[in-house]
Amino acid sequence: MSKQRPSADSAIHRLADGTVKQRNLLTGTEVWTVPGRGHRPLQPAGEQPTPIDHTRDGHHCAFCESRYLETPPEKARLVRDADGSWRELTGLPAEHLDDTVAEFRRIPNLFEIVSYNYWLLNHGHVPSEAEHRRMAQYLASSQGYDHVLGVVRARLRASGMDQADFAALSDSDLLRQANGFFSGGHDLIIGRRHFVDGAQDSSQLASSGTLSPEEHHQYTAFTARSMADLYGLDPAVRYVATFQNWLKAAGASFDHLHKQLVAIDDHSVQTQAELDRLRKDPDIYAEILKVAATRKLLVAQNDHAVAMAGFGHRYPTLAVWPLHAPRNPWEVDEEVMRATSDLLHAMHAATGSGVPCNEEWYHRPPDMEVPMRWRILLKWRISTIAGFEGGTRIYLNTLDPWAVHQRVLESLTRMREAGAIAPMRLGEECRVSPDLLRD
Ligand SMILES: [Zn+2]
Repeated sequence: MSKQRPSADSAIHRLADGTVKQRNLLTGTEVWTVPGRGHRPLQPAGEQPTPIDHTRDGHHCAFCESRYLETPPEKARLVRDADGSWRELTGLPAEHLDDTVAEFRRIPNLFEIVSYNYWLLNHGHVPSEAEHRRMAQYLASSQGYDHVLGVVRARLRASGMDQADFAALSDSDLLRQANGFFSGGHDLIIGRRHFVDGAQDSSQLASSGTLSPEEHHQYTAFTARSMADLYGLDPAVRYVATFQNWLKAAGASFDHLHKQLVAIDDHSVQTQAELDRLRKDPDIYAEILKVAATRKLLVAQNDHAVAMAGFGHRYPTLAVWPLHAPRNPWEVDEEVMRATSDLLHAMHAATGSGVPCNEEWYHRPPDMEVPMRWRILLKWRISTIAGFEGGTRIYLNTLDPWAVHQRVLESLTRMREAGAIAPMRLGEECRVSPDLLRD
């Protein structure tokens, strides 16, 4: 056992006093859970719920369905027809935005993490011919023109631009700032509902876990297709970071369900660390799965995916892994996508809509020939003990993986009985072997 290569034996163990020490087999991150802190409620004691003002339905926030014109021109939307079938509509003109109700919509983020200018100035990125044409067509209608100018103005105002500078800008100055809406690399996938149907108070937000399994499947598959599309944005795109922040404590700016996709010109530090680990130890995923199985951390399983309580994570974490040979999200077939989505949906449902959480997608950068696996982590951003970590690089966590496992399993068992989640095997019913990670 060398220091560089943590063995499965040191992955997770409980000491005599009840402290649980964990080590992340992919990153080496060390986490301790000290006893006696795990029984507190997960939800932070936040604001008291208030009654919902239903006269504001469709207007609760800028992501709501009656405020389409406050966000940049839409790239695509999913609509559901009366017979229950789903359709994707791409590049709708402004005058047709209200013809249908989007179950999910893909729009450019108004405040990009990596801006259009970054791509332009560092990589000479300019809109493709198709993107140019789409922009010209969008602006050719008066509704489209007003929409784009309105959104550019709102962005400038929000960025704190001086009133005099603002007034001096001509329409063509403003239009030049709209390229990013048609050829940018930071997109959002937004759900339709702000609150669940029939909600009475402000705590009843429409989180991932409140969607139906079918809606969640559409949401997940739409996200995967959008990732593939962003890889085509520019030859300099090397990774498309994909994540979902739920609630303010987890970094969300609106309490309205959305995922984010950000094209970047580098591999993330996390990805690089995993690639390095994988080169040294090609069996690492099988090893993690074995630890999860032998230490009784498996939560749920279906024919094409498995979910487990993660170990060695800074926050209490649930991990969803598609099975079979490694494939990127946009490469798996419909059944694997559905199975993966069903488990992720169930993990969200078991977590509860009141718990702030980050959903993080990990996948193989397409320019790397390494069998890195697509996985999704769901991290509960509940309070941790601060101060100690900086000096030691040992992270303290309030819930050990077995406590996470137990809480989630109890909820899942209830929800499976109620038919609120897709059929799946739970806990002790799960059966995994390394064969499941091959075709
Ligand atoms: Zn909203």
